[in-house]
Amino acid sequence: MFRYYYDPTYILVVLGALVALFAQMKVSSAYSRWSQVASRTGMTGAQIARQILDANGCSGVRVERVQGKLTDHYDPEGGVLRLSSEVYGSSSIAALGVAAHEAGHAIQDAQDYAPMRIRASLVPVANIGSKAAVPLFMLGLLVSWEPLLKIGILCFVFAVLFYVVTLPVELNASGRAVAVLSSGYLAEDEIRGVKAMLSAAALTYVAAALQAVLQLVRLVLIANSRRRDD
Ligand SMILES: [Zn+2]
Repeated sequence: MFRYYYDPTYILVVLGALVALFAQMKVSSAYSRWSQVASRTGMTGAQIARQILDANGCSGVRVERVQGKLTDHYDPEGGVLRLSSEVYGSSSIAALGVAAHEAGHAIQDAQDYAPMRIRASLVPVANIGSKAAVPLFMLGLLVSWEPLLKIGILCFVFAVLFYVVTLPVELNASGRAVAVLSSGYLAEDEIRGVKAMLSAAALTYVAAALQAVLQLVRLVLIANSRRRDD
């Protein structure tokens, strides 16, 4: 038990947390910078989302306003694209980038984009896995029973898979956003802002996946050192 807290693999967790913190800071600064730059189209986030959806066979998807900051998301169950107030009514470069990214998720859904399907099917098992993994692993250490350590690690693998398969889903939605905004909506200097913001956002997903992988490596290292001690 003791060595679980004080073993040297803890450095991996600190490393993962630092990358995540750095990514979060980059997103905040890119978003706050480009949300103050108005696009020359004058369209709002809601208007551009509506146009992109209609042009891509998603006329049935509603666009709604939602409370909060950076709460923008696409809800596949309800077929609703929810944009935060700041994005919904704003014509800033940041707002258009976020709106186009979320519309990208709706298009993925309409086109049965495989990573999105895989991600959705992983949700329940990843939820259970991430909650059960560490308690099972700790119990395995406590009673020195190796199969329990392995089950704990296996549970965590599902959580890691979820974070990993999130990457193509997010990168693809951002790629679609940049492509559609470049096709006549925004000028090149404006696209630079969209790219800065969306690549910072992508980094947060990379950081989350990295954190999960590092945590997995840590569990494996602890299990191995325990086996050597026995
Ligand atoms: Zn997204």
